[in-house]
Amino acid sequence: MIARLLVVEDDPDIGPSLVHALKVQGYDAQLAPDATTAERLAGEHVPDLVLLDLGLPDLDGVELCRRLRASLPSTVLVVLTARDSEIDVVIGLDAGADDYLTKPFRLAELLARLRAHLRRRTPTSAGDRLAVGHVVLDLAARRCLVDGTELALRPKELDLLSMLMSEAGSAVSRDRLMAEVWDEHWFGSTKTLDMHVSSLRRKLGDAGEQPERIATVRGFGYRYERELPASPAAQDQPGD
Ligand code: CA
Repeated sequence: MIARLLVVEDDPDIGPSLVHALKVQGYDAQLAPDATTAERLAGEHVPDLVLLDLGLPDLDGVELCRRLRASLPSTVLVVLTARDSEIDVVIGLDAGADDYLTKPFRLAELLARLRAHLRRRTPTSAGDRLAVGHVVLDLAARRCLVDGTELALRPKELDLLSMLMSEAGSAVSRDRLMAEVWDEHWFGSTKTLDMHVSSLRRKLGDAGEQPERIATVRGFGYRYERELPASPAAQDQPGD
């Protein structure tokens, strides 16, 4: 199956040549030079992955990212930005990006990152499920259910949770999480990992609870707890 990519980029020196390069690589790539076109194209054919420049002529790229996240829950959103300061906003504050590349980037780096993202989307065999306690991950359907209610997880959150749950009870190193969930050649900051863990904890209803289902293993990584010890203190103090 050919992956469908949407490139949202208004710079005439970057957009067309990037789309051309992606087509040469065998992707089905389309260009949207502004947010309006991006939303229209994404509505016509759901893309597997969106490359999103944040500086757009008609709408703040962060706002577009938020809208695309809401309308395309299973599409991978990769933000292109020249400003490091924007990364926290797009990844951390529920604008919903899965990854980012800082401009200028090398094409080889972009392609490696795309391959890593799209490989994760390869369907697993039907019936692949992980269940720990009352959290169930249906890997084939790429859904997460907590007590039967579906959680809205971003693609990378689901990948991360699936890796932690598949090794529940054991600590998984940051390096391995970065390599397997993001990219085997990741060389950037691991801030992305921490932000995804925080967001997962929030969605699992664990933020601020002690003990947490996703435990921090200091100086090493994270561990998904197989069983949580009873914690009446946490229940008695809502909101802490
Ligand atoms: Ca721009």
